[in-house]
Amino acid sequence: MKLELCGHNEKYALEQSLLTLFPGERPVYGEVTPEDARWAVVTMHENGAQVEFVTEIGYDGKTARCAYAYPLSGDDYEREGQRRHALGLSFFGAAKDALGVTPPWGSLTGVRPTKVALALLKEGGREHADRVLDETYAVTPERRRLAIEAAEAGQKAAEALAPNDISLYVGIPFCPTRCAYCSFVAQSVEKTFAMVEPYLDALCAEIAAAGEMVRDTGLRVKSFYMGGGTPTTLTADQMDRLLTALESHFDFASLAEKTIEAGRPDTITAEKLAVLRDHRVTRLSVNPQSMNDHVLTAIGRRHTAEDIRRAMVEVADAGFPHVNMDLIAGLSEDTPESFRASLDECLTMGADNITIHTLSLKKGSRITLEGTHIPSGEDVAQMLDYAGVTLRKHGYAPYYLYRQKYMSGSFENVGWTLPGAESLYNIYIMEELHGILSLGAGGSTKMVGRSESGDALIRRAFNAKYPKEYMERPEKWRSNLDEFAEFYRKGRS
Ligand code: SF4
Repeated sequence: MKLELCGHNEKYALEQSLLTLFPGERPVYGEVTPEDARWAVVTMHENGAQVEFVTEIGYDGKTARCAYAYPLSGDDYEREGQRRHALGLSFFGAAKDALGVTPPWGSLTGVRPTKVALALLKEGGREHADRVLDETYAVTPERRRLAIEAAEAGQKAAEALAPNDISLYVGIPFCPTRCAYCSFVAQSVEKTFAMVEPYLDALCAEIAAAGEMVRDTGLRVKSFYMGGGTPTTLTADQMDRLLTALESHFDFASLAEKTIEAGRPDTITAEKLAVLRDHRVTRLSVNPQSMNDHVLTAIGRRHTAEDIRRAMVEVADAGFPHVNMDLIAGLSEDTPESFRASLDECLTMGADNITIHTLSLKKGSRITLEGTHIPSGEDVAQMLDYAGVTLRKHGYAPYYLYRQKYMSGSFENVGWTLPGAESLYNIYIMEELHGILSLGAGGSTKMVGRSESGDALIRRAFNAKYPKEYMERPEKWRSNLDEFAEFYRKGRS
C-alpha cells in the first residue's frame, strides 16, 4: 500500500497498524497519485496541548477518512505514546470503513494484547479493563473477553514464580518434510539425515555448559520445553540420549512441567513414547493442524488424518498427564465446515489443551511464495467463532494468546485449557514473566529483569540459526551463556 505522511514521521506506528489491519499489504512510501489503487495519506496537526491525526484511505475504489484528536500531557516519552495512540485510532477508523468490516482487535497492534489487558486489570479490575478496551481501543466483545481471561491466567502464573526461576528450551530443528506455511529454520530430515548425530553431539556440549552455568548462577529451572522443528524426528535412542544428558546436567527438582513437541504424527511411535514416559515427560504436544486429508496434502504434510488417529491412540495408551493438540484456522483448502469437523474430532481424542492458531502469512513460506488460495477473512472468522463457542461449551478456557504479523483476518492464536492443565511455559514466554534459556540451533534466549530505576528490562541473545553454523561456531552459544549468567548475577547483586 502506498503511504504518504504529512507533518510527521511516525513510520513505525503506521506500519504496525498497516500490517495488523491489512495483513497482505507491505508499506511503500511516496506521494499518492491517481494511479494508486491502495493508498493512505496520514496527516498530523499538533498545537502543544493536542494532537490530531487525519487518515484518508483508498482501497480498491473505496475511500474512507477518519480524524482523531487526543490531548497531550507529560514528558516527551508519554507524548510520543499519545501521538501513536491517536495515529492508531485514526488509521483504524478509516481502515474499518474502507474494508467494510470491524477489525476484531480494534486499534490494538502488537503481539501481546494481554499486556494491555493486564495493565488495565491492575489499574481498576475487570470492568475497568473491559470498558477501556471497548471505548479507547474499540476491541470487539469476544476479543475483550479473551484478552482479560488470558491476562488473569498470566497474573496467576506470575504470582507463583520465585525470583530465580527460569525456563529451559531445547530446539531440534529437523522435520520429516517442510510444511507449506513454514518459515522456521527447520531442515527436512530427508535431506539432512547425516546431520542429526553431529547436531546432537554439539547440543550435548551446550547442555553440559548451560547446566553448569545455571547451577553456578543459582537459578532454578521451573519449566522445560523441547520444540523445533519436530523433536520426535529423533529416533528413540537419540531422544533417550538427549533427555539423559539434560537430566544429568540440570537439576530438575523444582520442575513444574516437562513438555515435548511431537508435532507431526508420522514421527510418533510406541517406542519413542515409551522413552518419553520413562523420562517423566508431563506434556506431549501433537499438532495435526487439520483432520482433513485435502488440507494436509495442500500444506505439504505427508501423513493422513488416519495417521493422526493412530498416533493419538498410542499417545493415550502411553498415559501422559497432559496432551496438547494444535489446529490452524485459515489453511489452504480448508472451509468452515471442515475446520469444524477437525475441531469436533480433536475434542474426542483426550487432549486437555487445544491451541487454535490463525494462519500467519510468513515471508519465505510456500503459501506466500506461490500465492496459494486460502480461506477469506470471513471464513476464518467463522472458524474461530465456532472454536470459541465449542471449546467453552466443553469446559476449556483461554489461558494465553498472541498475535503475529500478516494473520488472516487480523485475528490471534489462543491456547485453551481444561481447568488446571495450563502449559506454564506458554504463559511465561508470552507474558515475558521470566528468562527463557534456549539451547540449540535457532535458540532465542530471553533475559527478563528490572533496570536500576525499576523498569522492565528485556535482553535477547540468539544462537546460530542453522544446524551447520551452530556446530561450526560453538563460540556463539558460549558467549550467549556468559551473557545470560552476567545478566542474572548483576540482577541479584
Ligand atoms: S512441522 Fe513445524 S517446523 Fe516442521 S516444517 Fe512443519 S511448520 Fe515447519
